[in-house]
Amino acid sequence: MTTADLEEFEDELETCFGTSCGFCERGCPVYQALKVRTLSMKGRNRTMLGLLKKRFEITPSVVQAAFECTLCGNCDRWCALKNTDHTRAFREYLLKHGVEPMKEHSSLLASVKNYGNPWFQPRSARNKWLKGQDIPKAAPGKQEVLFFAGCTSAVMKPLVPSLVASAKLLRRANVNFAVMGQDEPCCGSTLLRVGQTEAFEMLEKENFDKFEALGVKKIVTACPGCYTTLRKSAESLGSEIEIVHITQELAELVKGGDLKVKRSSEKMTYHDPCHLGRLGGILDEPREIVGAASDFIEMPNHGYESRCCGAGAGLQSAFPKLSRELASKKIEEAKSTGATTLVTCCPFCETQLRTVPGMRVVDLMELLLKATEDSNKP
Ligand code: SF4
Ligand code: SF4
Repeated sequence: MTTADLEEFEDELETCFGTSCGFCERGCPVYQALKVRTLSMKGRNRTMLGLLKKRFEITPSVVQAAFECTLCGNCDRWCALKNTDHTRAFREYLLKHGVEPMKEHSSLLASVKNYGNPWFQPRSARNKWLKGQDIPKAAPGKQEVLFFAGCTSAVMKPLVPSLVASAKLLRRANVNFAVMGQDEPCCGSTLLRVGQTEAFEMLEKENFDKFEALGVKKIVTACPGCYTTLRKSAESLGSEIEIVHITQELAELVKGGDLKVKRSSEKMTYHDPCHLGRLGGILDEPREIVGAASDFIEMPNHGYESRCCGAGAGLQSAFPKLSRELASKKIEEAKSTGATTLVTCCPFCETQLRTVPGMRVVDLMELLLKATEDSNKP
C-alpha cells in the first residue's frame, strides 16, 4: 500500500481551512464524546496545516491530536477530503520527525517484528485454534484458497470459537481451503494505523511473496482489519490474488438456501465493524445472515453511519478511558433497540464490546454455525 506524505495533502488541508464547515464533527465518536475541537477532523486538519506552515512546533497536544482518533472513517463520509489518509500521514510525519510513538504503539511494532503478531504471543500460538480441526496446511502449489485466520482471533482464547465456526461453515459450503497455521504472517493492519508505514510496506511485500509462492489465488478472511488491509495491499502491489470476507462467501449460500438456517425469534441487532462496513463497503452480507438467523433490528446509527466501538487504530491501548466510553455508548445504542443480543464479526469489536456489562455479544460466524446446526434438529 503506497501511502502519501503529509506534504502531499497540503492543498486539501487548505481547502478544509477555507471551508471550515464542521460537517465532520457530527459522526465523529471522539468529538461527540469529548467535544474538544482539536480532536475533530476539522481541528486535526488545522493542526497539520499549522505544522506544515511552521506556525508552531510539535508539542504533546499535537501528538495527542494525531493519535486520539480511531481512524473509523466516519469523517470521510461527510467530506470530500481524504481525512483518514491525512491522519495516517500525520502519524507518520511525527515518527519521521523523531517523535517516538506512544510507548504502547512502539511495543506493537516490536511484537509484530519478533513474533509475527502484535500480542507478544509466540508464533506457535497461531496453531492453537487448529487443534482437532483436521484442516490441511498450505503447501506450495497444493491449494488455491487460503483461509487467513488473522493473528488476533488465533491467539486470543475467547475468539477461537469464531475461527472454528468459520472453518466449519466453509467446509459446509464445500470450499476447498487450507491454512498457514504458525506460518501465517501478520497482515500489518496495526502497523499501518499507528503510522509505521515503512515497516508495513516491507511486511506487505514479504506477505504477498509468500502467498504467491504457495500458489494462492484467493484469500478468505473472517477478520475485517485483515480484509481491508490485504485487499488494499493486493491492489497496490498489483497482485491478482482475490481477497474476500467470509460473509461474502457465505451470505449468498444462505440466501439461496444452500446453507440451511433455522431462524430464532430472538431480537438481535448488528454492529458494523468500521473496517468491514464503512471502510470495506460490506454492509448487506452480514445483515442477510443475521436476518436469516434472528429477528433482526437495526440500531439508529448503522451501515455507513455506524458509530465506532472505540477499539480501533491504537485508541484502546493509548487512550483506554475514552475507548471504554465509546464502547459503553455503543452498547447503550444497541440496548435502545430492544434487542437482547448484539452481533458483530470483528475480533477487536467483540473483545471491546464484551467488556461492557449488560448485553450479550455474539460473533456472526458462531451465530450462523448454530443456526445451521439447529436447522438439522427435529
Ligand atoms: S474535514 Fe471536511 S467536513 Fe470537516 S471541516 Fe474540513 S472540510 Fe468540513
Ligand atoms: S476517523 Fe473517526 S474518530 Fe477519527 S476524526 Fe474521523 S470520525 Fe473522528
